[in-house]
Amino acid sequence: MSDLQSMDTLVSLAKRRGYVFQSSEIYGGTGSVWDYGPLGVELRRNVMDAWWSAMVHQRDDVEGLDSGILMHPRVWEASGHVEGFTDPLVECKHCKMRFRQDQLGASACGQKPSKAPGETDSCDLGEPRLFNLMFETFMGPVKDAAATVYLRPETAQGSYVNFLNVQTSARQKIPFGVAQMGKAFRNEITPGNFIFRTREFEQMEMQYFVEPGTDDEWFEYWRAQRLEWHRSLGIRGEKLRLTPHGPNELAHYAKTAEDIEYEFPFGWKEFEGIHNRTDFDLGRHQEYSGKKLEYVDSASGKRFVPYVIETAVGVGRTMLVAMVDAYREEEVEGDTRVVLGLHPRLAPIKVAVFPLVKKDGMPEIAEALHKELRAAGIPSFYDTSGAIGRRYRRQDEAGTPWCVTVDGQSVEDGSVTVRDRDTMDQSRVAASAVRAWVQERLGGVA
Ligand code: ATP
Repeated sequence: MSDLQSMDTLVSLAKRRGYVFQSSEIYGGTGSVWDYGPLGVELRRNVMDAWWSAMVHQRDDVEGLDSGILMHPRVWEASGHVEGFTDPLVECKHCKMRFRQDQLGASACGQKPSKAPGETDSCDLGEPRLFNLMFETFMGPVKDAAATVYLRPETAQGSYVNFLNVQTSARQKIPFGVAQMGKAFRNEITPGNFIFRTREFEQMEMQYFVEPGTDDEWFEYWRAQRLEWHRSLGIRGEKLRLTPHGPNELAHYAKTAEDIEYEFPFGWKEFEGIHNRTDFDLGRHQEYSGKKLEYVDSASGKRFVPYVIETAVGVGRTMLVAMVDAYREEEVEGDTRVVLGLHPRLAPIKVAVFPLVKKDGMPEIAEALHKELRAAGIPSFYDTSGAIGRRYRRQDEAGTPWCVTVDGQSVEDGSVTVRDRDTMDQSRVAASAVRAWVQERLGGVA
């Protein structure tokens, strides 16, 4: 059995099975945006539902919010993004290629084993220039400086400016959190590694407001919770690690920060950040808006600007981790079997139903079962085409945990075979019991 060796293998599986397509492919693609196909949108939705369930529905102390992508431009002055959300850009004077200075390492153009058109062997890099990552656009009919607005580079600021709205309307007491999922945009200098770094992406972020002095404790708490969440979705523990930011790496707002990293085929990389953002953001919004953003403790009358512990994870990166971690190749009877062993909670299709042959009463039983599963809210797929072995292999690649086959015996005694994707074991189950069998294994989550 072997893990994923190269991203190209996953990119082609993702396209073949309808997970991810290149954006605007017929025009040559954009290189920095990807589109999710029929299975991709289901995986994305399952990731987001699992996060929302763990972070909002299963807790009394976190409320949901959905704020706009476009915000008052002063928000981004207050947050420090206009001035400080920059990456150091360096350009080669010969080949004109651009790099992020802090990510040069082995990917600097002079050190690449094969050269792209225009690259020279020894690059002559110019002085670094700070490049702001925010996308600008214009609000209203007049395209002038006064109408400049930004596409948000993070969802967090929407939670800060709504802090008191949420707290008072939901009658929350500190500590409590505000969770948001939504699009964010960053004009990255070097997007790449498939859906790992894109210019348009989605985040799932939670801002937890705490009393100053209790922030270190809550930081530890959330770090452990978030790591556990990834494990609960089946991600292998040995492929996950926590890496604290050194003093020189900390963002302008952070007191402490730690990354949850995964070992991708291209190395250990961050896919979630846990940040102690102190009272920086609320304090700055107070200053820039002139409106108080204090919490008043009703019992003691104590007033303070809360500290914030943030958990921030990308939807696309979580999908990528799930797919990379799930991918494996196995030798089965001289053939290579490709399996996307996604956790059943994340799998786009939960069950595939096949009649062994298209006659002798088998399609009727199979179709009835498929409809029963669908009606129960279990994503089911009906397939009659090709040899049964090929149908199994297609579902293995798509990540479907169970395949149900209706055969000659089914017509006689009403039983069907259920095949497990991971073990390939087959067991006979009464067709009338399949729905409950699947529901039990999904733990109530369709
Ligand atoms: P990086 O160092 O990789 O640029 P970051 O530290 O700037 O990431 P955060 O600002 O902490 O990232 O954002 C939180 C999460 O949002 C990241 O862990 C990642 O999952 C996701 N994310 C950030 N930038 C991108 C991007 N360009 N494309 C896809 N996901 C992203």
